[in-house]
Amino acid sequence: MEKPETTIKVPEHFRVLYSPEDIAARVAEMAEDISADFEGKAVHLIGVLKGATVFLADLLRMLSIPATYDFLSVASYGDSTESTGVVRLIKDLDDPVESRDVIIVEDIVDTGLTLKYIEELMRNRKVSSLSKCTFLDRPDRRKVHVEMDYVGFTIPDCYVVGYGLDFEQKWRQLPGIYAINQPT
Ligand code: 5GP
Repeated sequence: MEKPETTIKVPEHFRVLYSPEDIAARVAEMAEDISADFEGKAVHLIGVLKGATVFLADLLRMLSIPATYDFLSVASYGDSTESTGVVRLIKDLDDPVESRDVIIVEDIVDTGLTLKYIEELMRNRKVSSLSKCTFLDRPDRRKVHVEMDYVGFTIPDCYVVGYGLDFEQKWRQLPGIYAINQPT
């Protein structure tokens, strides 16, 4: 695929998986689905820092129903490309979620451990409904089963950056999604 225009220079070995145009079209479809499913209601989006910020900002602006949002931050120990499996809460939500229609907004679901942890955290807070939305889904390395309600793209087993996703905190600013290694 042709490399999209970027203001920052992208290394040669980064391979484009989704262009900014692909992303905008898919996010618009997801927003349409969510708006239809929650017609007449208001949704509360819970973004998972930091990766989901860019996706959440785009999704939010395309919803045709009232929406509010909040963020939480979790970490799985270590800062590598391999998840260790232990998830901990680093920053909790600012506002209560009780009796609200909550949608967890993730950048990517890999092992599923992060989402499972957040899902349990939210269920304990007596939400009115809980939905799960992820921009990317990589099912190959799943360790726990998680039922997704909204998925942007299902990707092969390669590490990706851009559109909020990082490698060692870099490349979040890229407007497209790039694979930085080969599928295994
Ligand atoms: P899980 O708990 O599902 O294994 O991991 C979810 C988190 O791991 C994501 O929210 C993301 O922060 C990180 N992650 C997993 N795969 C990738 C990837 O390919 N690229 C980037 N940048 N982060 C990833």
